[in-house]
Amino acid sequence: MRVLITGGAGFIGSHLCDRLLAEGHEVIAMDNLITGTTDNIAHLAGHRRFRFILHDVTEYIYVDGPLDAILHLASLPSPVDYLEKPIQTLKVGALGTHKTLGLAVAKRARYLLASTSEVYGDPLVHPQPETYWGNVNPVGPRGVYDESKRFAEAMTMAYHRAHGLDTRIARIFNTYGPRMRLDDGRVVPNFVRQALSGEPLTVYDKGSRTRSFCYISDMVDGLYRLLLSDEVYPVNLGNPQEMTILDFAHKVLEISGSSSQVVFVTPEDERTRDDPHARRPDIRKARQVLGWEPKVPLEEGLRLTIDWFRRRLTTAGAKT
Ligand code: UDP
Repeated sequence: MRVLITGGAGFIGSHLCDRLLAEGHEVIAMDNLITGTTDNIAHLAGHRRFRFILHDVTEYIYVDGPLDAILHLASLPSPVDYLEKPIQTLKVGALGTHKTLGLAVAKRARYLLASTSEVYGDPLVHPQPETYWGNVNPVGPRGVYDESKRFAEAMTMAYHRAHGLDTRIARIFNTYGPRMRLDDGRVVPNFVRQALSGEPLTVYDKGSRTRSFCYISDMVDGLYRLLLSDEVYPVNLGNPQEMTILDFAHKVLEISGSSSQVVFVTPEDERTRDDPHARRPDIRKARQVLGWEPKVPLEEGLRLTIDWFRRRLTTAGAKT
């Protein structure tokens, strides 16, 4: 296949590039580098089946030649980023999805939308199955991300129904691993960076909210299986092992061997407003239709992530 990945220089996007290249496909990565970085794809420079295009997907997209698949990963998935860039967040979810869908129709390409567990908002059903419609505050700070992704799902289904476009929708739950931005503000990079540099781990409020963390290689495998499947309706992809943020902080300390303290802080900005109190994917559908479930235990995934962060921090330290 000849595949376009938007957000190809981002965390999940760049790992998808690696996987698709390893499967023998030709890959075009597109990114405007607002949150992505060419560091994530530097190792692919010169690869004869890989190409990078610097472009903002909210503007008209031109790609020469045929495309068999488009994977729309471009997004600002960190709450800190979308608080800082609310309009870009809405635009990439809404306009970026519209533009990439239009391109998919023109190229007769299969289309995969990277949606999110945030479509469930602060969920009233636990764990969250795909049939749950969600509990989202449209005018809260998270609304820019959540509503753009809900719009993106609706738009994808509209293109499927109106144009017969071959579409897939992945609802991605919290994912972690190498290539996360050290300063993206989410809990994994924050805690790991803090643990490695001896700073206190900043647990927001009481740390009683829960999340379920999926390692990147499992996520990429789920996305690839979904792309090859014929399931049009949304599929949850995530690891159902749920834990409180406080327990997660202790896990990071244990695995990194850090002697950092844990501090309870209440951020002054709006980052914890409407923060989902619990999140855990119901992955029965993914098991059934994709034969997929996560394989990497948290301890192993965290060890790999911590090792990578340690190397990055050492290089960053050496540069300054
Ligand atoms: N969180 C925290 N300390 C941090 C960063 C995040 O306690 O330094 C909490 C945050 O309030 C949320 C959870 O960790 O309850 C996960 O936040 P993240 O930003 O990683 O992503 P989300 O799952 O909310 O999209």
